[in-house]
Amino acid sequence: MKARRPAHSSDAPALRSGLVVASHGRHCLVETPEGQRVRCHPRGKKLQAVVGDRVQWLPTQDEGTIEHIEPRRNLLYRSDELRSKSFAANLDQVLILVAAEPEFSEQQLARALIAAEAAGIAARIALNKQDLADPFAAAWQRLAPYRAMGYPVHALSLKSAAAETLPALTDTLQGRATLVLGPSGAGKSSLINRLVPGAQAQTGEISQALQSGRHTTTSTTWYWLDADRRSALIDSPGFQEFGLHHIEPTTLATLMPDLAAHLGQCRFYNCTHLHEPGCGVSAAVGQAAPAGIHPNRYRIYRELFEELSQPRFAGTR
Ligand code: GDP
Ligand code: ZN
Repeated sequence: MKARRPAHSSDAPALRSGLVVASHGRHCLVETPEGQRVRCHPRGKKLQAVVGDRVQWLPTQDEGTIEHIEPRRNLLYRSDELRSKSFAANLDQVLILVAAEPEFSEQQLARALIAAEAAGIAARIALNKQDLADPFAAAWQRLAPYRAMGYPVHALSLKSAAAETLPALTDTLQGRATLVLGPSGAGKSSLINRLVPGAQAQTGEISQALQSGRHTTTSTTWYWLDADRRSALIDSPGFQEFGLHHIEPTTLATLMPDLAAHLGQCRFYNCTHLHEPGCGVSAAVGQAAPAGIHPNRYRIYRELFEELSQPRFAGTR
């Protein structure tokens, strides 16, 4: 008869805990509580860890296997018709960085905010390049509806040596895990290099460990802001293709706070707010802030509603 191994056999390798700090394909970099970083593969096809995941892993020779992903507080998705992709978990907030120049796409901004709302994650916006006075004033004005609907908006000047605008933002990062999103050229690298000691060296080490290209930022990366590892910035590329196909068109309005404020006022309980009579949402379009809905926001709603109503390609999900 075969002897049964006791549940806590001393020679069985013990599970260790860790935090996923980068991922590339199916490889992850897992950080131990002591701060050591180990390359890990998930055990089995179903287990897909993302940056921010707390995991249990087992050491193999010089690497490890992820055995278990701890329950997530939240999970941020972006998706297109072809695939649904989650890319960060257990976030405290999302910071969307845009700039006076290049002019930002309001629809992209709206998409990121909707994805954050759908995941139940708080969001704030930062507008960089305050030194470019005229375009900054115009961009600040474009963000007025977002301030009115309750998103904090920070003015930034990342280029200026004094960086007097930075402390107000960094206060909001303390003790939190903040995912930074933004179109290229907005100043994301400038922000990370300002706030993360040795960010560039870390990026090099991570891409080497994961064998992703040294100069390509293909993966989401977790950076600690402080030596005691309480505050983190998570850098994620790919703001441009922020698909929302994981969201039902009929829930879209509930994820846009300025529209959501009028949802009780429609004649039909299943109003799509596109063409129905007695629609409280369309009645508020063009009304004065803060209760009114800016025409640009309503246009974005209609565009996204139509996009999310398109049939998905068969057999891909
Ligand atoms: P990323 O593409 O989002 O990573 O943006 P970068 O950090 O590379 O910045 C893009 C460009 O904007 C660079 O040329 C920066 O020097 C410039 N930049 C960053 N912050 C400011 C700012 O506050 N004012 C101005 N005028 N330029 C800035
Ligand atoms: Zn309606």
